Amino acid sequence: MSASSTQLLNVARRAGERASEICRAVLSGTPMSLEKGDKSPVTLADYGCQAVILREIAAAFPEHHIVAEEGSLHLKESAGEEGAQHIVELVSENLGEKVSFDQVCGWIDHQGNEGAEFTWSIDPIDGTKGFLRREQYAVAIGILKNGVPYAGVLVCPNLPVDLNQPDGPRGVLYVAAKGEGTTRVPLDGGKEISVTTNATDLNACRVLGSVESAHGDPNLVVAMMEHAGMKGGFVRYDSQVKYGILADGNAEVYVRPRSRPDYRENIWDHVAGVIVAEEAGGKVTDIDGKPLDFTLGNKLVENRGVLATASVEIHEAAVAGIRTAEAAVEA
Ligand code: AMP
Ligand code: MG
Repeated sequence: MSASSTQLLNVARRAGERASEICRAVLSGTPMSLEKGDKSPVTLADYGCQAVILREIAAAFPEHHIVAEEGSLHLKESAGEEGAQHIVELVSENLGEKVSFDQVCGWIDHQGNEGAEFTWSIDPIDGTKGFLRREQYAVAIGILKNGVPYAGVLVCPNLPVDLNQPDGPRGVLYVAAKGEGTTRVPLDGGKEISVTTNATDLNACRVLGSVESAHGDPNLVVAMMEHAGMKGGFVRYDSQVKYGILADGNAEVYVRPRSRPDYRENIWDHVAGVIVAEEAGGKVTDIDGKPLDFTLGNKLVENRGVLATASVEIHEAAVAGIRTAEAAVEA
């Protein structure tokens, strides 16, 4: 029998809460950054989070497929004896039981069955650069049902519970499932509320983008804002917290133009965020207005960047603004 959204979300939430404990434990000291082949940073927290998340999923749904960002090979090659011992301690402490390095690596590499009805798309720490700067990052647990975003939990351990009060408590969890809306829960306990977004006023549009200029094309974003008449400001955050902020109604547009023509987005950078934004009433496509196609493997090979907005009206204006901005560059 197919898993219900409640069963899926219970597991995703438990996994996300465990992962956020790992993140906070690592940030209570000095996180060590290990460089990957593509020069992007990774930390023991990325591996620790992936281990505890995949362990939960594998125990509950052994037949489900999992696509996750990290693999144990790089950990084995780069962590050294000290790193291996450190991650074993981190995961053992988190689970409250003694585990081995081989067990940790086994969980990190668990993939389940390709072709299963459900595919979990996991970014154990999205925005590792933001994590290392002690700014914004997210634990992204997205679930595809037959290749379509179906449910997700987006954990934002360092996001202010009230964005207008940055000195107040931090840590927010977004939970969404198809047809059931999006709820937001303070990570450390508190009232669960459902969030919606339906703004249509272009003039007031606040636009979100990446902190890392190399992850997009900030000049194009600014040109789009000018052409579309969006005057609410361009605010930059790391990671999928951008989808959460949009779902909350604290911004109206998240645009992610391609950083270069051959770049293709990873599915784990979007599945959880997309369902959170869509179920709050938002619309998500690529920057041409084309639906995102998650059925083609680990990457969105047939899409150009990503565009998430608060409403159909704003979406159309953003797509038109991008088209005009690109035409002006080419002219
Ligand atoms: P953000 O914090 O929104 O910039 O997104 C972080 C994600 O950007 C990482 O998880 C990477 O998978 C992804 N990323 C890495 N390099 C690029 C690139 N050149 N263009 C777009 N995204 C990238
Ligand atoms: Mg990521």
